[in-house]
Amino acid sequence: MSLMSDITATASAAGPVLFRAMCPDCRARCELSAQALRLAIGGSRRTTFYSFTCPECGSAVRRPAGERIVELLTGGGVSTLRLQPVAAPAPRTPSDLQV
Ligand SMILES: [Zn+2]
Repeated sequence: MSLMSDITATASAAGPVLFRAMCPDCRARCELSAQALRLAIGGSRRTTFYSFTCPECGSAVRRPAGERIVELLTGGGVSTLRLQPVAAPAPRTPSDLQV
């Protein structure tokens, strides 16, 4: 059983990237948009994970994210939360919202 490949991304020609991940509770292969996924990057492998709510059974799924999964998700536009357990929180400025 491999944890490295339990999520895959499918880029469609016209639309946004779709991710496919398996729900460990009901074993459904879920199709998820980038908005349905959350990625948390911590200081170590154990605190780096992605999460989503299974559309089939409603279960909150949290899975470890290796380097490749992090790349996959960030490249596909998944919002990323950087966990900084010891450092002071970064100040948020309104200019962050302007692109
Ligand atoms: Zn499920």
